Parts: sequence; structure tokens; C-alpha cells
Amino acid sequence: MALAARASKVKRRLQTRQTDSVAASGASAPADAVDSAATGVTVRLFGTADDSIVDGPGIRFSIFTQGCNHGCHGCHNPGAKPFEGGTTQTIDELWERIEANPLLSGITLSGGEPFEQADALVVLARRAHEKGLNVWAYSGYLYEELCAGVPSAAATLLLEEVDVLVDGPYRDDLKSLDLRWSGSSNQRVIDVAKSKAAAQVVEFIP
Ligand code: SF4
Repeated sequence: MALAARASKVKRRLQTRQTDSVAASGASAPADAVDSAATGVTVRLFGTADDSIVDGPGIRFSIFTQGCNHGCHGCHNPGAKPFEGGTTQTIDELWERIEANPLLSGITLSGGEPFEQADALVVLARRAHEKGLNVWAYSGYLYEELCAGVPSAAATLLLEEVDVLVDGPYRDDLKSLDLRWSGSSNQRVIDVAKSKAAAQVVEFIP
């Protein structure tokens, strides 16, 4: 299904739901709902890249979560799809490694599907912002879905801590090596703050 058609279908579906469209409306989720000092929070990981230069601008600490329901044909990380497997780490352990690298511009949340573990990653994203690092995220969900609480209310909260979102499923038929930060041309590189302010998707301009 073309992106515009999917987005339109999603929008219609979401309009019938009694969900929290916090980010889409430009309102803010309750900031005090996230305790960045929370300890013992764990995340299931497929892997990490301590100094990636391909998952956003600058040098980044990239986190690939374990588990994904999207089923993209030609998935680039099939090993990250099962929800069991991978390794479990605490956010504190990840944060220690991030803090130790003064060269980082930001962190990138990828997968798998990072928004399936939003309740843990929002703690990490909040810490990153407090340290002055920017936060990018890749998701098979559309921006509009995340705004409306899909797959969870925590996903909307995590979106509040994301600066740039690359959204939508990977499509092998739309694959392009010319794209700087996405794998297929249906995926949008979204400036989340500007999108919230405009109440519509605004493309990220580097
Ligand atoms: S969202 Fe990513 S990990 Fe999930 S099926 Fe699609 S390409 Fe694979």
C-alpha cells in the first residue's frame, strides 16, 4: 500500500479511537511521567553500535532492540525480529557506555522495533537529552500511530523524547541506496518538534 494511502487509512482508524493524540495535537505529554534517574530498568537488545556514523548525523551510540512485529519483506535485521532471544541489559549499563564517550552527538534507537520497549527507552532518551545529546529513532510504525498511542501509551511518551523519527516499514520494492538515513523511499525523516508545532508532519532538514 502506498504511504499516502496507508497514512490516510491509519488516520481514519485512529480518529475512531479514544486514544491520546498528545504529540499530533502539539500538546506535551506530562514531563514528570518520566523518571530519568530510575534504576534497574531493563531493555532486551539485539545489539549496539558504540560509534555509528550511519544512523543519523555525527557519531552516535546506536541501540538495536530485540523484537518486532512488522514483517517487512526484505527486513535488514531478521535476527532482531523474535521477541525472545537477544540479551537483556539495564539502562544504567547502556548509559555508562554512552556517558564514557565524549565524541557522541546523540543516540539512535533502532531495532527490531524500539517503540515496543518504549517504557525502558524513554528513560534512556531523557538522560540523553539532559546530557545535551540528540535522540533519533527508527520505527516501523507511522508517526501518526505513535502520536495516537500505538503500540502503547509509553510509545507516545517516548516520541516526546525523540528529535528525529524515521518512520514506516521498510519496503524492498522502494529500496534506494541514494537515501541518506532511510532504507526505502516511503520512510519519512521527520522533525518531531516542528511536526508537533505544525500539527502535521514536517520533514527534517539537516
Ligand atoms: S521494522 Fe525493521 S526489524 Fe522490523 S521487520 Fe521491518 S525492517 Fe525488520
